[in-house]
Amino acid sequence: MGKTRILLIEDEESIASFMAMYLRKEGFEVDMAADGAGGIKLAARRPPQVVILDLMLPDMDGFEVCRRLRRESDVPIIMLTARDAATDKVVGLELGADDYVTKPFDPRELVARVKSVLRRAQARVQPAGTGPLSLGEVSLDPERHEVSVAGKPVQMTAKEFDLLHYLLMNEGLALSRQQLLEQVWGYDFLGDTRTVDVHINQVRKKLGGAAEIETVWGVGYKMK
Ligand code: CA
Repeated sequence: MGKTRILLIEDEESIASFMAMYLRKEGFEVDMAADGAGGIKLAARRPPQVVILDLMLPDMDGFEVCRRLRRESDVPIIMLTARDAATDKVVGLELGADDYVTKPFDPRELVARVKSVLRRAQARVQPAGTGPLSLGEVSLDPERHEVSVAGKPVQMTAKEFDLLHYLLMNEGLALSRQQLLEQVWGYDFLGDTRTVDVHINQVRKKLGGAAEIETVWGVGYKMK
C-alpha cells in the first residue's frame, strides 16, 4: 500500500516545513503549496487523501480554496485558523471543511486530527450495508453516494451526506446533538454541537422542504 498523501497549503515557510517534518516522521507523504492557486493545481495533479489548509494565504483566502476543492472532491480538509473566531469555524464547516485547528498548535495535535479525519473517511467508504433510503421526495443512495430530491440530483458535502444518511436511517426518532456529533463526526471530533446546527441548516436548505428535519426543543433533531 502506498503512503497516505497529505497536501499542505500554507505560505508561512517556517510553519509549513515544521508541519511537513512532523507529518513525514509519522510516515505520511507531504506535498506543499505556498498559495491557494498552487494548492488547487497540485490537488488536481496529485490527489491527496487529506488537505491541510491555512486560512490566510497571499492570493486568496482559505475559504475560497476550500470552496474550489469541494467542487472537485470529497477529500477531508482540515483548516488552520490563526483566529479563534467562532465565525471562521462555522464558515469553514459550511464550505465543507471537516475539521479545524487553531494556531498556534502542537504538531502532535495536528497529527491526531489528520489520523482522525482519515479514520472517518475510511469509515465512510464502508457504509452500514444499507440500500437506497427514501423519505417523501428525498432519496439517498449510500453506495453511489448520491442524493436526489424529486428525481433531481443534489450536491452535498461528505458531512452533509453522512448527516442526512444517519437521519434517514433513524427516521422518526429524536436524535440529540451529542449523538449526531458522535455518530456522524466521530467521538474524537473537537468541535461543539454548534457544528451540528450548521450542517442541519445546510441540509435543510438543500432539501428545500422536500423532507422535514424537525427541531426537537431541548433535544436535537428528528427527520419526518
Ligand atoms: Ca498563512
